[in-house]
Amino acid sequence: MPTSPSTAASLYDRVRRVIPPIEWPAFTGDIDAILALKRERNAVILAHNYQTPEIFHCVADIVGDSLALARKAMSVDADVIVLAGVHFMAETAKLLNPGKTVLIPDLAAGCSLADSITAADVRLMRQRYPGVPVVTYVNTSAAVKAASDICCTSGNALQVVESLGAPRVIMLPDEYLARNIAAQTKVEIIAWKGHCEVHERFSSADIRELREAHPGVTVLAHPECPPDVVAEADFAGSTAAMSDYVGRHKPARVVLMTECSMSDNVAVEHPEVDFVRPCNLCPHMKRITLANIRAALEENRHIMTIDPGVADRARRAVERMLAI
Ligand code: SF4
Repeated sequence: MPTSPSTAASLYDRVRRVIPPIEWPAFTGDIDAILALKRERNAVILAHNYQTPEIFHCVADIVGDSLALARKAMSVDADVIVLAGVHFMAETAKLLNPGKTVLIPDLAAGCSLADSITAADVRLMRQRYPGVPVVTYVNTSAAVKAASDICCTSGNALQVVESLGAPRVIMLPDEYLARNIAAQTKVEIIAWKGHCEVHERFSSADIRELREAHPGVTVLAHPECPPDVVAEADFAGSTAAMSDYVGRHKPARVVLMTECSMSDNVAVEHPEVDFVRPCNLCPHMKRITLANIRAALEENRHIMTIDPGVADRARRAVERMLAI
């Protein structure tokens, strides 16, 4: 969604359903400054679906889930990439664009899944299950990717697992994603105990309560949710798949069992759909703000660097996934 040469004043129409008029003036100075800085520095902003609407709809050039951002990052024609998302996403953008400056506005924007595992843990799993291929979720550090055979996202995990032609696969680090994929394949999945701190909070009891309070509501769940949540939902898929589902089926009323900014961002595109919004925030995603995106472009910070030895092996795991 190209934003330049817009100005903040012309962008409010995009977000009026989700940002009250009284809040809008607090954003316009940073939005205008960011739009100008992008032109000056030949920069693009990649924003994850969990970013807030003033970032997602008003300054981002490329938006999507981890898979879409990884793919689109490869064809970006810019000198500078600002990653409005968490640390592992900026690392992935750098892996795929080694010659470009990749900036993350806040180095502390982490992820409970990425923090749940180290490269040493992956090596221990290989020792325990010799010869079993290792599929690593993109929500991991470059060092963990480098210790793996191939990456996956929630959008392509089943396809990646089945592409290997192996009877058993180690799938790291999200236990629930691994169990949700295991329910769809004959491949035996060996899981790790990592969890997303946002999606693990949803329960099947939440869904039953929502159905009682909002009769007829369509429930869409992210596969990082526990398996009983996925089983109770009407559809499970990545953030991109949930967004496509709303566009294709146009349910009268829908609830997305995922991070809460996602509902705001999809609601902007579908004014005819009523969104029920139980709110589980990702504190890491919320560290990214207009103010620190502006500071990133003004002060060229924080520059993403990856040890070259790690980067080559991690890039191979990501490119192997992208080739599927
Ligand atoms: S929503 Fe979960 S998986 Fe995504 S960045 Fe936050 S903690 Fe990590």
